[in-house]
Amino acid sequence: MASEGNDAASPTDQPPGRPVERRLGQLAELPVTVLHGVGDRVASDLGELGIVTVLDLLTHYPRRYVDGTRMVTLGELVEGDKATVLARVSRVTAPPSRGGRGRGRAPSRVSLQVTDGRGHLTVVFFNQPWRAKQLPVGALALFFGPVASYRGALQMVNPTAEVLQSADEPNRESGEASPRGGVPEEGFGGRVYPVYPLSEKAGLTSARISRLVHEALDRAGAFADPVPESDRERLDLQARTPAFAGIHRPRSVGEVEPARRRLAFDELLRLQLALVLRRSRLEEDARGIRHIVARSDGTPTLVERFVAGLPFALTSAQVRAIDVLIGDLASPLPMHRLLQGDVGAGKTVVALAALLIGIEGGHQGALMAPTEVLAEQHATGIGRLVEGLMVPDPTTLEGSRPLRVTLLTSRTSAAERAGIHAGLADGNVDLVVGTHALLTDSVTFRSLGVAVIDEQHRFGVEQRAALRDKGRGADQQGSDPDLLVMTATPIPRTAAMVVFGDLDMTIIDELPPGRLPVVTRWARTPLEEEEAWATIREQVGVGRRAFVVCPLVEGSDKIAAASAVTEANRLAEGELAGLRVGLLHGQMRPADKEAAMDAFRTGELDVLVSTTVIEVGVDVPDASVMVIEDADRFGIAQLHQLRGRVGRNGEQAWCFLLSGSESPESEARLTALEKSTDGFVLADVDLELRGEGTILGARQKGRSDLRLARLLSDRDLVADARNVAEALVGADPHLTHHPLLVEELRLFVDDDEAEFLFKS
Ligand code: ADP
Ligand code: MG
Repeated sequence: MASEGNDAASPTDQPPGRPVERRLGQLAELPVTVLHGVGDRVASDLGELGIVTVLDLLTHYPRRYVDGTRMVTLGELVEGDKATVLARVSRVTAPPSRGGRGRGRAPSRVSLQVTDGRGHLTVVFFNQPWRAKQLPVGALALFFGPVASYRGALQMVNPTAEVLQSADEPNRESGEASPRGGVPEEGFGGRVYPVYPLSEKAGLTSARISRLVHEALDRAGAFADPVPESDRERLDLQARTPAFAGIHRPRSVGEVEPARRRLAFDELLRLQLALVLRRSRLEEDARGIRHIVARSDGTPTLVERFVAGLPFALTSAQVRAIDVLIGDLASPLPMHRLLQGDVGAGKTVVALAALLIGIEGGHQGALMAPTEVLAEQHATGIGRLVEGLMVPDPTTLEGSRPLRVTLLTSRTSAAERAGIHAGLADGNVDLVVGTHALLTDSVTFRSLGVAVIDEQHRFGVEQRAALRDKGRGADQQGSDPDLLVMTATPIPRTAAMVVFGDLDMTIIDELPPGRLPVVTRWARTPLEEEEAWATIREQVGVGRRAFVVCPLVEGSDKIAAASAVTEANRLAEGELAGLRVGLLHGQMRPADKEAAMDAFRTGELDVLVSTTVIEVGVDVPDASVMVIEDADRFGIAQLHQLRGRVGRNGEQAWCFLLSGSESPESEARLTALEKSTDGFVLADVDLELRGEGTILGARQKGRSDLRLARLLSDRDLVADARNVAEALVGADPHLTHHPLLVEELRLFVDDDEAEFLFKS
């Protein structure tokens, strides 16, 4: 943009007869220094905000707007108001800066006279000497604070101040010069001021950024639009050119939302295209197994026999989920499915059905869990569920033999491990349950048919891929197993569409019948806390057990362990005297942990005081009370998980959240848990409280592209973007006819990802 020569877009993929339109890819190649007055220092200030190119600048969106048409005028101010006023500085009085930093120096005082062309106001800043420089005569700023009266005149003391137009700014946007209006001399109506995110370090004002954006927009001209016009019309999305204008220099506040919606759609479309393309590439490469889901002789399948033998009837949500899995397994494409379901919804049985289908066809199954405790529990539980189940085996006299399940963790002894490795390699083991130990190189399968990952959020994407790769084997001759990942930490549907968009999704939205919701109380005072200990004593008295979860300690497992030890001793001598109190924390030796869990499970211990190691999946049906100390230190999802450890046998259970915190966030979180035991409802609350950043954080590679899109309020837009992405990729799997979209995607995903998405 430095010269008109650089300015012209390459005309190659422009239709003839249309003016040259600006592509984002071009703007990404222009450094901000092409703009007027941007030298090294301003460039480095912009760099502090992550703005390096003109594209970065144009996607640095205002965080809010000040509507100059709806300000209180100075003449209307009344003492005692908390007011926001827009005014220009007309006089600055600041004491001369003194050299020394003498101790007894009087506090510095900067006093401003400001005017809106009609009235006047005095603004005083104490101990903020830099205000004199920030707000020189001529600067236009927004002041927010209480209005007081001093010697008969109104004034604001130490208000917050936001400079909207610097003093040296030529008023070239005003009047007729710009069709978007400017700052009239009298009053400040008729204009909306964008307020840009700034950083402490960068010596920039919102006004300065706004000016640079104006220049960039003026010089960029019309934008090329990658979204097909038919889609834009159908979804009521405006074109990109007015959208950039509307977000950065709206003529009225009403222009902002349609602009935001369009640009948010672009963000979501890029994200969904990346996910849909990723999925499509995986499928192209896939070498899946077409599992046999029905028997030609009409006799019952292994799964049918398994379900018939269960001590309970499946819920209809479980039946639906299994049907979906059967569809996936029968298809030649490998399954990539996420199974979401609240704590206790019965995901294990559903996963087991998928594993059994693979096994019946002569393949093997693997179930990976994040902790040893959980893997052991799964192995025991599954062992019980499949007891007596026979699988076809032509090498035996009867043509069938009992199903063989085995456990493999880092605790497995070397001798035993060798045997298991051999059994997996030669097909002697049908189903292996384990931890990360399953991923070691020495584990090979004869034929891995179905792989299940429990509590998938505890694993990385690479580990998911590593387990899947066990199917192909070292020689790459095998097939891709069908993959099911499970989570008991529900995330809202739209968030899931964004975070897990490369997976299919099934939700078990129903708990087995007869489950009573866990009665949850937020105990704020010592008196309310006493109710928690009394409930434990009472429940232990009738043969139940209780968990006490110690405060979350950041950073150090050692300190967490120490605090659990102290707490266990304190309780054993105090509130829980006379009860058998045990201890469980991450610093204990594995054998001791196991012993503690066993003692608690069998009832030799009444109370287990622990760190959050019990968070995931621990199953002790007789536990009926959970006390969580310093509950405000935990997130909603974690508290919900912890609470899921009690009330697993259908009897009434209690959860006490101890916290004296009075912060509004604690209040919101803890009352949400008191009110609801539905993980999906809580997930929505969580998203609302924490914003999408935390959900997306872990998954987003490279540039974080969601700046304007809001997962909660833009639900429909997320779904629209998904549909458009699917339609585009469905019709044109490599987007050959959409070079503009491809170029933009390359801008927003990292190089490795782009390489993968666009390889041909
Ligand atoms: P989660 O979804 O939390 O992993 P589990 O699979 O561990 O839940 O199941 C929780 C408990 O509920 C287990 O003891 C399981 O045997 C039992 N269960 C599963 N499905 C049903 C059902 N349909 N009816 C009754 N109990 C069930
Ligand atoms: Mg589970």
